Amino acid sequence: MGTEPAESPEPAGRQQHDGPSLSPSRAGDFLTCPLLYRFRVIDRLPEPPSPVAARGTLVHAVLERLFDRAAPDRTPQAARELVLPEWERLQAAEPELASLFPDEQERAAWLEQAGEMLDRYFTLEDPRRLEPAHREMSVAALLSSGLQLRGYIDRLDVAPGGDIRIVDYKTGTAPPAEFEARALFQMRFYALVLWRAQGRVPRLLQLMYLGSGEIMRYQPDEADLRATERKVEALWQAIKRARASGDWRPRPGRICDWCAHKPICPAHGGTPPPLPADPAAEPAGDRAESAGDRAEPAVTG
Ligand code: SF4
Repeated sequence: MGTEPAESPEPAGRQQHDGPSLSPSRAGDFLTCPLLYRFRVIDRLPEPPSPVAARGTLVHAVLERLFDRAAPDRTPQAARELVLPEWERLQAAEPELASLFPDEQERAAWLEQAGEMLDRYFTLEDPRRLEPAHREMSVAALLSSGLQLRGYIDRLDVAPGGDIRIVDYKTGTAPPAEFEARALFQMRFYALVLWRAQGRVPRLLQLMYLGSGEIMRYQPDEADLRATERKVEALWQAIKRARASGDWRPRPGRICDWCAHKPICPAHGGTPPPLPADPAAEPAGDRAESAGDRAEPAVTG
């Protein structure tokens, strides 16, 4: 990628859309555990803030703000200096975050972990040599079936020749090889949205794992994105079938360690609440994706 700003595709606009929609986070929920999807999208159960998710949100916020600085000023020290003000800004927006830490010592240790993730970021690339075309970019595209795909891309880089790179920061660790396809699904999803919205296949998908200091890169092609589109459409049909039948099966796995709904999950001896009325209605779309979604630990199975 070049250092100069190049032709920047306009953000893929979010036209008014009253039909069904799906974000990669919620699609990933259903793929990982249909019951988790139900709890989040159908029941819309609240989830208390967690230190892991909040740290991810904080690190994302600092990396976004870092690129407000002039290129020479995007240093590890500058990133560290942004940690506290960004944390205070997030807390002001979400006062419940204040309850995450019982004392100042724990809060300081948690902030230090965020700082270490940012230090690790600088071992992976030099932000002084980058000029992102977009940060926290809202993207949406309508498929021919009427399903809208939407989400937020952490960073979009455009090379002088027009090549597009989608960059996603993960505050977890890179998944083992057998789960890489699932990790890349989200990126292919974004690539599909950009391709359908703008007609250009992104050149590179780049996942940056700040928990372990690793990068996963993938070069998609049109055939990949057509296959992703078929997969997303099939997934949506499966969601509609579950909605119509009320059969939201739990699929226990490593994600249960982070699942806020474990106490009411039948796979762990709990009892879910009754399904809300009108379960056979057309799904109106899933819950908006948030920065917190992108901050969750890498769940690989
Ligand atoms: S605890 Fe596990 S199986 Fe149960 S809903 Fe959560 S992710 Fe699914």
